[in-house]
Amino acid sequence: NANLYAAIETSARRAAHTVAFSQPDGSTLDYAELLALVGRYADALTQHGVGRGDRVTVQVEKSLGNVALYLATLKVGAVYQPLNTAYTAAELDYFLGDAEPVLLVADPRRADTLRPIAAARGVRHVETLDAEGKGSLADLAADLPGETPTAVCAPDDLAALLYTSGTTGRSKGAMITHRNLASNAEALREIWAFQPGDVMLHALPIFHVHGLFVALNTALLNGSPTIWLPKFDADAVIAQLPAATVMMGVPTFYTRLLAHPGFTRQLCAGMRLFIAGSAPLLAETHRRFEAATGHAILERYGMTECGMITSNPYDGERLPGSVGYALPDVSVRVVGEDGAELPRGEVGMLATNGPNRFLGYWRMPEKTAAEIRPDGFFITGDLASMAPDGRVTIVGRGKDLIISGGLNIYPKEIEMEIDQFPGVAESAVIGVPHADFGEAVVAVVVPRPDAALDEAALGAWLGGRLARFKLPKHIATVEELPRNTMGKVQKAALRERYGTLFP
Ligand code: ATP
Ligand code: MG
Repeated sequence: NANLYAAIETSARRAAHTVAFSQPDGSTLDYAELLALVGRYADALTQHGVGRGDRVTVQVEKSLGNVALYLATLKVGAVYQPLNTAYTAAELDYFLGDAEPVLLVADPRRADTLRPIAAARGVRHVETLDAEGKGSLADLAADLPGETPTAVCAPDDLAALLYTSGTTGRSKGAMITHRNLASNAEALREIWAFQPGDVMLHALPIFHVHGLFVALNTALLNGSPTIWLPKFDADAVIAQLPAATVMMGVPTFYTRLLAHPGFTRQLCAGMRLFIAGSAPLLAETHRRFEAATGHAILERYGMTECGMITSNPYDGERLPGSVGYALPDVSVRVVGEDGAELPRGEVGMLATNGPNRFLGYWRMPEKTAAEIRPDGFFITGDLASMAPDGRVTIVGRGKDLIISGGLNIYPKEIEMEIDQFPGVAESAVIGVPHADFGEAVVAVVVPRPDAALDEAALGAWLGGRLARFKLPKHIATVEELPRNTMGKVQKAALRERYGTLFP
């Protein structure tokens, strides 16, 4: 049975009396209790006629009920479709129309607004689940016996329909199979050396690949306990760190911990591994974290469509600014416009193939055909270079590449220079329309707290370090960069904001 849940069930039975989840209020759920809870939720889904291939759309706060719902959806062979809790009713309307689920599970506070929208989209059932895991779905499940069998699935059966973050345009639904999830979870467990006694600290949202698949599936397959936090809160993470061995986070977790006066080396004494991804980790954050804690953060790279693709080594050098090597069984190449591999060291599009690669974009056959090439390689949309030994460095997104006066400019190169200027905390470099050059470079800079930034001095300093065509034609100072919940800088929002500087 290729159903990922069958594998989770096996490890959960083995770990029956181990804590599966603990919460800051002291409550715990062991693996036997988790299996029973998932069984009852699976019955509830079956009662609503949810079966193989049916979509279950879920927009709820993070809770253990939400975890049970995710696992129950896999168990019955249906397709889990989580949504960012920030999406509005109008956005939900789009997703419901696109995914056509049998069941929508919503936050009780929004259910009344969403019911007519769901009805108009032909969704047969709407249930609720709140931040405590209470609601009509939990009530329905509570009285059921938990007898639904685990569906037998083929490796290519859909397990999830996961929408991309919408950083570069409208979110696309990625069709994720059981093979994708199982192969990735097994690979991560192996390369990150998961072991008995590991305890995962989980403060990520679970509507996204990072918190849902990377963190949760790995811990569950390892039969490990997870410390369950509703969201990232530096105080709460600091309070739980001494009980954990592994934490996965987005780069902003690490910058916030470093900025917290209560964060000490001693707190991290029992930690085995800190992992970062979803957005680039600044080399400077990597170095500061190592100086403060003795831990070199392990940065990895992945995406909704392919789960994890590359990782820095567990044993070996975790190089700041690099995302490491392809996972076992995963192939990566740096290719040119024509899809042919470029010589090592050259910058091009990163393409990847392997058991982790998704089947395609939901109901977007043209887009799927354009981005999954006939040889099976998926064009990620990220620009990268590869060292002779296969080590990958992400240079930025293809859509963020600036072409000014016909010359390619990589924002990251300029950002790395700006970030070295005294008083700079971080920066984002974008291209905006320019009548003469096509695009002009604009630098958006965040000064360090209590540092005054002299924009003219920064401009002059850059002049001594970068070729003229790369120099910003405008430098703007802001208090913070616009970021989404995954810590990704919203460059599209910046391009809009500064788009009319050069009419
Ligand atoms: P959309 O595809 O809708 O524009 P998105 O690409 O942000 O949104 P995700 O699938 O959540 O959606 O994010 C994957 C992207 O995140 C990658 O393509 C890459 O650009 C970025 N990313 C992830 N990990 C890293 C990393 N370690 N370093 C740099 N970039 C990373
Ligand atoms: Mg993307």
